[in-house]
Amino acid sequence: MDSRDCRQPPGLLRPVIDRNRCEGKGDCVEVCPYGVFSVGTLPTDRRKELNLFGKLRGYAHGWQQAFTPNADVCRGCGHCVKACPERAITLVRHGHNGRHDASIAAD
Ligand code: SF4
Repeated sequence: MDSRDCRQPPGLLRPVIDRNRCEGKGDCVEVCPYGVFSVGTLPTDRRKELNLFGKLRGYAHGWQQAFTPNADVCRGCGHCVKACPERAITLVRHGHNGRHDASIAAD
């Protein structure tokens, strides 16, 4: 993906992952020019945060989900939002929790 499309200064926006939708397919890892994402296993203690649909989804996909270890370098290009087949990613202003909780936003 062409990083010239990412014109926001780093840190202004950050991706938030909807844990009830993510299936850990990794499209976000592939398209992000800045390495914001990784895919890993959702910890056991966080699975109880999911709704029934999210739990069924998580179980079916081995609890693999996307995480944002490098969210602070996000440039807000939106490639990840477009690439996610589950529409699980939202860009929010840094410090704003959007419709997701802070612990999810900080992962
Ligand atoms: S908007 Fe998505 S693809 Fe673009 S820099 Fe941020 S995390 Fe990466």
